[in-house]
Amino acid sequence: MSLRRRLLLAFYSGALLAVLIGVLAVYFIVMPSFFDMEDDAARSEVTRVEMAFMQTLTMLHGRSRDWAESQTVQALVAGDDTARPVPPGLESLGGPGLDQVVVIDQHGESHWLLASTVDEVALETLYADYQERFCYPFWGVTLFGGQPYLFSMEQVGECGAVLFAQRLDATMAQELSGITGLPVQLSASSGDLPRGVIVHRLDRGVLSGEFAVRDYNGAPVMRGSVLIDRGVYARGLRSIVWIAVSLLLVAGSIVTLVHMYVGKTVFKRLEALHGTVQRIAQGGNLDLHVRVPGNDELSMLGADFNRMVDSIKDTQRSFAEASERADAANRAKSLFLANMSHEIRTPMTAIIGYSELLENPNLATEERQRYLSVVQQNGDALMALISDVLDLSRIEAGQLRVERQPCQLPVLMKEVLYSHSLKASEKGIDLTLEYLTPVPATLITDPFRLKQILSNLIGNAIKFTDEGSVSVKLRWEEGLQSALHVDVRDTGIGVAEHALPRLFEPFSQVDDSHTRRYGGSGLGLAIARQLARSLNGDIIADSVAGHGSSFRFYIQAMAAENSPRVMPRDALATEVRSQQVPAVQLGGRVLLVEDNEVNRLLVQRILNRAGIEVVEAEHGQQAVDIILKDNRFDLVIMDMQMPVMDGYVAAGAIRDAGYQGAVLALTANVMSDDRRRCLDAGCDDFLGKPVRANKLLAACSRLISGQASSTV
Ligand code: ADP
Repeated sequence: MSLRRRLLLAFYSGALLAVLIGVLAVYFIVMPSFFDMEDDAARSEVTRVEMAFMQTLTMLHGRSRDWAESQTVQALVAGDDTARPVPPGLESLGGPGLDQVVVIDQHGESHWLLASTVDEVALETLYADYQERFCYPFWGVTLFGGQPYLFSMEQVGECGAVLFAQRLDATMAQELSGITGLPVQLSASSGDLPRGVIVHRLDRGVLSGEFAVRDYNGAPVMRGSVLIDRGVYARGLRSIVWIAVSLLLVAGSIVTLVHMYVGKTVFKRLEALHGTVQRIAQGGNLDLHVRVPGNDELSMLGADFNRMVDSIKDTQRSFAEASERADAANRAKSLFLANMSHEIRTPMTAIIGYSELLENPNLATEERQRYLSVVQQNGDALMALISDVLDLSRIEAGQLRVERQPCQLPVLMKEVLYSHSLKASEKGIDLTLEYLTPVPATLITDPFRLKQILSNLIGNAIKFTDEGSVSVKLRWEEGLQSALHVDVRDTGIGVAEHALPRLFEPFSQVDDSHTRRYGGSGLGLAIARQLARSLNGDIIADSVAGHGSSFRFYIQAMAAENSPRVMPRDALATEVRSQQVPAVQLGGRVLLVEDNEVNRLLVQRILNRAGIEVVEAEHGQQAVDIILKDNRFDLVIMDMQMPVMDGYVAAGAIRDAGYQGAVLALTANVMSDDRRRCLDAGCDDFLGKPVRANKLLAACSRLISGQASSTV
């Protein structure tokens, strides 16, 4: 059943109930008054009957008195027998209705002139009472032969009497009815007769007032009753019916009006709300809004519903965006895997292919050298790729830690330029370094990250420039927030304008064909920007396709205390380019601690070639044992992951064993934390694997001669 119907039903039932309760209340409050009024009416009608009764008795008394005064009667009382048997005038004086006429003479003898019943005993009793009353006349009701009679005893002579009696029967009742105009009934008494008037409601139209007829001594002898019309009751009932009908009409009208009002203010609006909700549910159109005018609960519900729809829409939008992002991430991942596969396979193909070629013992030295350099270059490319991927994953995992330590800026710049000079000169490109302002000789920053940014930008510049130049310009900005500004500018292929915004997104390459032609994973710039930002700086790119690019970055840094400002002039391109890799000859004695035999052999060869004497140990414990016997080493090169005793423990143990020279840590763990852990364990410097000869020899050179590294 609809809510509207249920409400209507509830309204009408409630109203009906209220009317019913009202009517019952009226009935029970008002009707007793009507009943009281009925009782009063009954009593007054009975009184009327009693008065009629008295009137009849008075008339009987009058008749007996009249008759007693007649001479015939007096003669009869005086003992004159001639007056018998019936004194004259009896018929005329008694008239119809008389049932007993008795004359009692002066001797107390009774003469029944008229007798329906001769009851001498009753007469004697009556006469005795008459005498007791000093022969004064008296009248009332008495029994003759057990039947009630109206009687009147009239004095004649000294103590003679005339008795008139009239039977109390249906005829008498009719007579009384005639006088009062009320139906009167007289009946023999059975059981207790009431005192006063008893009202019996016989039915809805008639009630009876019952009363006792008593003899002259007050003893009840007969039951009399009057039937009375219940007009008062009927009027009361009619009033209540009218009240009920009026209440019903009023309540019905009120309920109808209230229902119409509720229908307009609630149901109509609810239906509108329902219609819109249904349309939204069926069509899924979340642009639809419900319109519930007003300022009440329903309009608030409507407003809340609209807000809910908006929030669902927002959530849907977020879901769609999230799903789009997930799709994009998925696409990027697939692209990344494809790139990685390509990036890894390309150098691997070269490494495997050229290694096979190298197996040929008949190769000319020049050719062998060329093949070796191909293997080396591709190994480098692979290494760079792996570092990039690791860097990016670290950055994305929020694990990038930035260190602040003093570094010699001109030395650092020189090293970076130096590491790219060979490639530049191979391509016939001018690589120049210029200081636009004096810079602090010692800078407090993260030198490792700074090098990474520089290397990436300079590497890209060289990679994407086939002819012309790559210039690196430095500028130092003094102030509260001092910063180092670097501009790496090239005359290469440039970047199309539309591609510039995506340049710093991971795995993005301007043109897929570049990947094949120039190599690269598309990670370098994303990493460089993150690194610059982690040093409170940023990178921006400017480029015109076909006319070269400019990548400018800055990092916030501080000059070390009392650091002089320098503006090296010897950093000019010619000098950088003319630097050749020196043929390294070092000499000295090194203890090489490395568990991997292949790596041990490689390092040993590199060191031997540089004139260094190498003593080998397979793990930390062996190194400690060797040191205990002989600690005259210029350097200990220590792998950190080893069985029996690892490098971290061994670094401390050899110091305890009496070794006082430098320790160079070699490890495949290249995170900054690992570097810190090595230094904390007692190492003086740190070199990541795979080992490159020039870097290893540079470190050996520094440590054997007691120089500090550029970064430490
Ligand atoms: P990649 O490893 O591919 O070089 P990067 O993130 O360093 O990755 O560079 C992303 C892309 O930006 C490159 O593939 C190239 O298309 C473009 N790019 C970067 N530097 C230069 C530059 N100096 N000249 C022209 N294009 C460049």
